[in-house]
Amino acid sequence: YYRRSWSSESSDSVISSESGSSCYRVVLIGEHGVGKSSLANIFAGVHDSIDSDCEVLGEDTYERTLMVDGESATVILLDMWDNKREGEWIRDHCMQVGDAYLIVYSITDRASFEKASELRIQLRRARQKEDIPIILVGNKSDLVRCREVSVAGLRNSLVALTPSHVAACPGPPSLCLVTPCNHVSTLDFAEGRACAVVFDCKFIETSAAVQHNVKELFEGIVRQVRLRRDSKEK
Ligand code: GDP
Ligand code: MG
Repeated sequence: YYRRSWSSESSDSVISSESGSSCYRVVLIGEHGVGKSSLANIFAGVHDSIDSDCEVLGEDTYERTLMVDGESATVILLDMWDNKREGEWIRDHCMQVGDAYLIVYSITDRASFEKASELRIQLRRARQKEDIPIILVGNKSDLVRCREVSVAGLRNSLVALTPSHVAACPGPPSLCLVTPCNHVSTLDFAEGRACAVVFDCKFIETSAAVQHNVKELFEGIVRQVRLRRDSKEK
Protein backbone atom coordinates (compact mmCIF):
# COMPACT_ATOMS: atom_id res chain seq x y z
CA TYR A 1 0.00 0.00 0.00
CA TYR A 2 0.96 3.63 -0.21
CA ARG A 3 3.10 5.24 2.39
CA ARG A 4 4.02 8.86 2.35
CA SER A 5 3.95 12.13 4.21
CA TRP A 6 1.46 14.93 3.91
CA SER A 7 2.13 18.02 5.89
CA SER A 8 0.00 21.08 6.29
CA GLU A 9 3.00 22.91 7.63
CA SER A 10 6.61 22.80 6.49
CA SER A 11 7.72 19.44 5.15
CA ASP A 12 10.61 19.15 7.56
CA SER A 13 8.19 18.93 10.47
CA VAL A 14 6.87 15.56 9.34
CA ILE A 15 7.59 12.73 11.72
CA SER A 16 7.05 9.12 10.76
CA SER A 17 5.10 6.62 12.83
CA GLU A 18 8.30 4.81 13.72
CA SER A 19 9.25 7.77 15.84
CA GLY A 20 6.15 7.29 17.92
CA SER A 21 3.31 9.33 16.42
CA SER A 22 -0.26 8.14 16.90
CA CYS A 23 -1.68 5.74 14.35
CA TYR A 24 -5.37 5.65 13.40
CA ARG A 25 -7.30 3.28 11.18
CA VAL A 26 -9.85 5.21 9.14
CA VAL A 27 -12.45 3.35 7.06
CA LEU A 28 -14.29 4.63 3.97
CA ILE A 29 -17.86 3.35 3.68
CA GLY A 30 -20.81 4.28 1.47
CA GLU A 31 -22.61 3.35 -1.75
CA HIS A 32 -20.71 2.25 -4.81
CA GLY A 33 -19.88 5.17 -7.12
CA VAL A 34 -19.98 8.00 -4.57
CA GLY A 35 -16.23 8.65 -4.82
CA LYS A 36 -14.60 6.69 -1.99
CA SER A 37 -11.72 5.45 -4.14
CA SER A 38 -11.27 8.88 -5.67
CA LEU A 39 -10.90 10.36 -2.19
CA ALA A 40 -8.53 7.53 -1.23
CA ASN A 41 -6.41 8.21 -4.32
CA ILE A 42 -6.04 11.85 -3.39
CA PHE A 43 -5.07 10.79 0.12
CA ALA A 44 -2.49 8.45 -1.37
CA GLY A 45 -1.14 11.23 -3.55
CA VAL A 46 -1.74 9.36 -6.77
CA HIS A 47 -2.36 12.68 -8.55
CA ASP A 48 0.71 14.44 -7.16
CA SER A 49 3.22 14.89 -9.95
CA ILE A 50 6.28 15.65 -7.83
CA ASP A 51 5.83 13.22 -4.99
CA SER A 52 8.11 10.24 -5.07
CA ASP A 53 7.99 8.74 -1.56
CA CYS A 54 4.86 6.83 -2.45
CA GLU A 55 5.28 3.14 -1.89
CA VAL A 56 2.82 0.54 -3.16
CA LEU A 57 2.51 -2.27 -0.63
CA GLY A 58 -0.95 -3.61 -1.30
CA GLU A 59 -4.47 -2.95 -2.51
CA ASP A 60 -7.24 -0.89 -0.86
CA THR A 61 -5.06 0.25 2.02
CA TYR A 62 -3.08 3.46 2.23
CA GLU A 63 -0.86 4.86 4.90
CA ARG A 64 0.17 8.43 5.30
CA THR A 65 1.57 10.61 8.04
CA LEU A 66 -0.21 13.92 8.42
CA MET A 67 0.83 16.95 10.36
CA VAL A 68 -2.29 18.26 12.05
CA ASP A 69 -2.19 21.16 14.51
CA GLY A 70 1.52 20.73 14.98
CA GLU A 71 1.28 17.05 15.90
CA SER A 72 1.88 14.17 13.54
CA ALA A 73 -0.61 11.37 13.04
CA THR A 74 -0.34 8.30 10.89
CA VAL A 75 -3.58 7.46 9.14
CA ILE A 76 -4.18 4.03 7.67
CA LEU A 77 -7.02 4.45 5.21
CA LEU A 78 -9.09 1.40 4.25
CA ASP A 79 -11.06 1.50 0.98
CA MET A 80 -12.35 -2.08 0.81
CA TRP A 81 -16.07 -1.54 1.40
CA ASP A 82 -16.93 -2.34 -2.24
CA ASN A 83 -14.54 -5.26 -2.48
CA LYS A 84 -17.09 -7.98 -3.19
CA ARG A 85 -14.46 -10.47 -4.31
CA GLU A 86 -13.67 -11.17 -0.71
CA GLY A 87 -17.33 -11.76 0.15
CA GLU A 88 -19.72 -10.16 2.58
CA TRP A 89 -17.48 -10.68 5.60
CA ILE A 90 -15.43 -7.73 4.44
CA ARG A 91 -18.22 -5.32 5.42
CA ASP A 92 -18.55 -6.80 8.91
CA HIS A 93 -14.80 -6.57 9.14
CA CYS A 94 -14.90 -2.90 8.10
CA MET A 95 -17.56 -2.18 10.71
CA GLN A 96 -15.34 -3.64 13.42
CA VAL A 97 -11.83 -2.46 12.64
CA GLY A 98 -12.09 1.31 12.24
CA ASP A 99 -10.93 3.83 14.80
CA ALA A 100 -12.90 6.34 12.75
CA TYR A 101 -15.22 6.35 9.74
CA LEU A 102 -15.88 8.45 6.69
CA ILE A 103 -19.42 7.77 5.54
CA VAL A 104 -19.53 9.01 1.98
CA TYR A 105 -22.52 9.84 -0.20
CA SER A 106 -22.84 11.81 -3.41
CA ILE A 107 -24.72 15.10 -3.30
CA THR A 108 -26.05 14.14 -6.75
CA ASP A 109 -27.58 10.89 -5.52
CA ARG A 110 -30.38 11.03 -2.97
CA ALA A 111 -30.35 7.23 -2.52
CA SER A 112 -26.68 7.28 -1.55
CA PHE A 113 -27.49 9.88 1.08
CA GLU A 114 -30.27 7.73 2.52
CA LYS A 115 -27.86 4.80 2.54
CA ALA A 116 -25.38 6.93 4.44
CA SER A 117 -27.94 7.56 7.16
CA GLU A 118 -28.54 3.83 7.40
CA LEU A 119 -24.85 3.10 7.64
CA ARG A 120 -24.48 5.64 10.39
CA ILE A 121 -27.08 3.80 12.45
CA GLN A 122 -25.62 0.38 11.63
CA LEU A 123 -22.25 1.57 12.77
CA ARG A 124 -23.60 2.96 16.02
CA ARG A 125 -25.28 -0.38 16.63
CA ALA A 126 -22.24 -2.45 15.73
CA ARG A 127 -20.01 -0.46 18.06
CA GLN A 128 -22.52 0.50 20.74
CA LYS A 129 -20.17 0.83 23.66
CA GLU A 130 -17.74 3.00 21.76
CA ASP A 131 -17.86 6.62 20.80
CA ILE A 132 -16.60 6.25 17.25
CA PRO A 133 -15.71 9.42 15.36
CA ILE A 134 -17.66 9.68 12.13
CA ILE A 135 -17.63 12.28 9.41
CA LEU A 136 -20.50 12.31 6.99
CA VAL A 137 -19.04 13.27 3.63
CA GLY A 138 -21.13 14.79 0.85
CA ASN A 139 -18.86 14.26 -2.15
CA LYS A 140 -19.10 15.59 -5.74
CA SER A 141 -19.82 19.11 -4.56
CA ASP A 142 -18.51 20.35 -7.92
CA LEU A 143 -21.63 18.98 -9.64
CA VAL A 144 -23.81 21.84 -8.45
CA ARG A 145 -26.38 21.52 -11.23
CA CYS A 146 -27.06 17.89 -10.38
CA ARG A 147 -27.43 18.40 -6.64
CA GLU A 148 -30.08 16.15 -5.08
CA VAL A 149 -29.11 16.59 -1.46
CA SER A 150 -29.09 20.11 -0.11
CA VAL A 151 -27.02 21.14 2.86
CA ALA A 152 -30.28 22.26 4.47
CA GLY A 153 -31.73 18.82 3.75
CA LEU A 154 -28.85 17.37 5.63
CA ARG A 155 -29.60 19.45 8.69
CA ASN A 156 -33.14 18.12 8.65
CA SER A 157 -31.86 14.61 8.50
CA LEU A 158 -29.81 15.09 11.62
CA VAL A 159 -32.98 15.67 13.56
CA ALA A 160 -34.22 12.18 14.38
CA LEU A 161 -30.98 10.71 15.56
CA THR A 162 -31.78 9.51 19.07
CA PRO A 163 -31.81 5.72 19.48
CA SER A 164 -35.41 5.93 20.71
CA HIS A 165 -36.43 7.63 17.48
CA VAL A 166 -34.78 4.92 15.51
CA ALA A 167 -36.38 2.21 17.59
CA ALA A 168 -39.80 3.87 17.22
CA CYS A 169 -39.58 3.99 13.46
CA PRO A 170 -41.22 0.92 11.87
CA GLY A 171 -39.64 1.42 8.46
CA PRO A 172 -36.00 1.31 7.44
CA PRO A 173 -34.00 3.67 9.65
CA SER A 174 -33.06 5.82 6.68
CA LEU A 175 -36.70 6.74 6.12
CA CYS A 176 -37.04 7.79 9.71
CA LEU A 177 -33.97 9.95 9.32
CA VAL A 178 -34.47 11.48 5.96
CA THR A 179 -38.22 11.95 6.02
CA PRO A 180 -39.12 12.59 9.64
CA CYS A 181 -42.02 10.25 10.40
CA ASN A 182 -45.08 10.64 12.61
CA HIS A 183 -43.38 9.26 15.70
CA VAL A 184 -41.25 12.31 16.02
CA SER A 185 -43.15 15.20 17.50
CA THR A 186 -42.17 18.83 17.13
CA LEU A 187 -40.81 18.76 20.65
CA ASP A 188 -38.68 15.75 19.80
CA PHE A 189 -37.21 17.69 16.91
CA ALA A 190 -35.67 20.18 19.29
CA GLU A 191 -34.30 17.32 21.39
CA GLY A 192 -33.18 15.53 18.29
CA ARG A 193 -31.20 18.52 17.21
CA ALA A 194 -29.49 18.58 20.57
CA CYS A 195 -28.87 14.85 20.22
CA ALA A 196 -27.23 15.31 16.85
CA VAL A 197 -24.72 17.45 18.68
CA VAL A 198 -24.25 14.76 21.32
CA PHE A 199 -23.81 12.12 18.61
CA ASP A 200 -21.04 14.35 17.33
CA CYS A 201 -21.24 13.24 13.75
CA LYS A 202 -19.39 15.85 11.74
CA PHE A 203 -20.25 16.85 8.23
CA ILE A 204 -18.26 18.12 5.27
CA GLU A 205 -18.87 18.51 1.56
CA THR A 206 -15.96 17.58 -0.70
CA SER A 207 -15.07 17.27 -4.32
CA ALA A 208 -12.54 14.64 -5.27
CA ALA A 209 -12.74 15.88 -8.86
CA VAL A 210 -11.50 19.38 -8.11
CA GLN A 211 -9.78 18.38 -4.83
CA HIS A 212 -11.90 20.66 -2.71
CA ASN A 213 -11.95 20.06 1.06
CA VAL A 214 -10.22 16.69 0.75
CA LYS A 215 -7.22 17.62 2.85
CA GLU A 216 -9.59 19.25 5.35
CA LEU A 217 -11.52 15.98 5.48
CA PHE A 218 -8.51 13.89 6.48
CA GLU A 219 -7.26 16.49 8.91
CA GLY A 220 -10.77 16.69 10.31
CA ILE A 221 -10.96 12.99 11.06
CA VAL A 222 -7.62 13.14 12.88
CA ARG A 223 -8.98 15.99 15.00
CA GLN A 224 -12.11 13.99 15.79
CA VAL A 225 -10.09 11.02 17.00
CA ARG A 226 -7.88 13.28 19.09
CA LEU A 227 -10.85 15.05 20.68
CA ARG A 228 -12.09 11.73 21.99
CA ARG A 229 -8.64 10.59 23.04
CA ASP A 230 -8.09 13.84 24.94
CA SER A 231 -11.46 13.67 26.68
CA LYS A 232 -10.69 10.07 27.76
CA GLU A 233 -7.41 11.14 29.28
CA LYS A 234 -9.15 13.68 31.52
P1 GDP B 1 -16.43 4.50 -5.25
O1 GDP B 1 -17.22 3.42 -5.95
O2 GDP B 1 -17.18 5.03 -4.06
O3 GDP B 1 -15.05 4.10 -4.92
O4 GDP B 1 -16.37 5.73 -6.28
P2 GDP B 1 -15.19 6.12 -7.30
O5 GDP B 1 -14.12 6.86 -6.59
O6 GDP B 1 -14.81 4.93 -8.09
O7 GDP B 1 -15.95 7.19 -8.21
C1 GDP B 1 -17.07 6.86 -9.01
C2 GDP B 1 -17.18 7.83 -10.17
O8 GDP B 1 -17.46 9.15 -9.68
C3 GDP B 1 -15.90 7.95 -10.98
O9 GDP B 1 -16.25 8.09 -12.33
C4 GDP B 1 -15.25 9.22 -10.46
O10 GDP B 1 -14.46 9.85 -11.43
C5 GDP B 1 -16.47 10.06 -10.12
N1 GDP B 1 -16.20 11.01 -9.01
C6 GDP B 1 -15.67 10.73 -7.80
N2 GDP B 1 -15.59 11.82 -7.04
C7 GDP B 1 -16.09 12.84 -7.79
C8 GDP B 1 -16.27 14.25 -7.54
O11 GDP B 1 -15.98 14.81 -6.49
N3 GDP B 1 -16.84 14.96 -8.57
C9 GDP B 1 -17.18 14.42 -9.75
N4 GDP B 1 -17.70 15.21 -10.69
N5 GDP B 1 -17.02 13.10 -10.00
C10 GDP B 1 -16.47 12.33 -9.04
MG1 MG C 1 -14.14 2.20 -5.03
